Amino acid sequence: MYTSVRDVVIIGSGPAGWTAATYAARAGLAPLVITGVEQPGGALTTTTEVENFPGFPAGVAGPTLMADMQAQAVRFGAEVEFDQVASVELTGDLKTIVPEYGDEPIRARTVIVSTGSEYLHLGAPGEERLGGRGVSYCATCDGAFFSGSTVVVVGGGDSACEEALFLTRFADQVILVHRRTELRASKVMAERVLANRKIRPMLEHQVTDICGQDKVAGVVCTPATGPDVLVPAQGVFIAIGSSPRTSLFAGQAALDRAGHLRVEHPSTRLLDASGTRTLPGVFAAGDVVDPVYRQAIVAAGEGAKAALDAQGYLDEIS
Ligand code: FAD
Repeated sequence: MYTSVRDVVIIGSGPAGWTAATYAARAGLAPLVITGVEQPGGALTTTTEVENFPGFPAGVAGPTLMADMQAQAVRFGAEVEFDQVASVELTGDLKTIVPEYGDEPIRARTVIVSTGSEYLHLGAPGEERLGGRGVSYCATCDGAFFSGSTVVVVGGGDSACEEALFLTRFADQVILVHRRTELRASKVMAERVLANRKIRPMLEHQVTDICGQDKVAGVVCTPATGPDVLVPAQGVFIAIGSSPRTSLFAGQAALDRAGHLRVEHPSTRLLDASGTRTLPGVFAAGDVVDPVYRQAIVAAGEGAKAALDAQGYLDEIS
């Protein structure tokens, strides 16, 4: 049973979702935002200080920034449902969104997907407890806090190498811990890492413990053979990959190899322009489409684009 058809339903309440909501609301489309129950407000609610979101010269607490984004969207008429989307049917003209807890399915002409992605965790003791207290998953976000320190980067792929190289701008020493005999990164990237005098690769070791009371004091590295090594460090950057939250859309929308939603520009005349369309009437924005940048301001920018693309689609079909 369906009570009404909405113009825009937004799945996810991170920077992409709230920015899409503000734009759609200001266009008079009365969007409904389904927040998700595990992380209403998105990934930034799990961090303390955000120093790189424009407009906040003194920095801003992640939860404050997200509460303000929500308030801004609501001020213009966005509606908010604290719920989780359990399933979707996106291929027809009218989309169906089934909430986990709400009484009935929701029907919409357009859907904006902004479900984000999750950094893969190591599962080492101390990792969760010291999250935001020296344990990080994003050098661009947190590297500047580690000026003059020793930091450990965990991982051996291109992302881990990029994180390690970026961290050499701040840290005195970067220890790159990787469990295999060789870095998995591309040859060029691995060579740049191995040539950098600030980076010490520690191959054939696994980080098996992250130590410290209130903040990171070091990591325990376990080699393939031989005794554990205690490595003193003030920061640990875990760069073992991320997983976009797209299981709801598999089989309906195109995904890349890592599971991100594929997007294109809605106009076939503008194939070179980047857009947010994933299916007719379905648009996606933020970390769920982004294997590279994964920054709040990028997600917010894409949220704005998704709302504008949805608006253009609604104009076309009306
Ligand atoms: P997210 O913020 O991840 O939001 C996804 C939303 O989707 C959530 O609200 C979730 O509840 C919802 N959702 C998921 N599944 C469902 C479902 N089935 N139904 C309904 N809702 C669903 N970036 C910076 O620019 N600067 C920083 O300083 C910075 N620090 C960071 C610190 C930490 C600890 C982390 C984890 C990330 C940090 N980032 C930072 C990265 C930034 O948080 C992300 O790039 C940004 O949040 C991505 O926004 P998004 O809207 O795409 O997704």
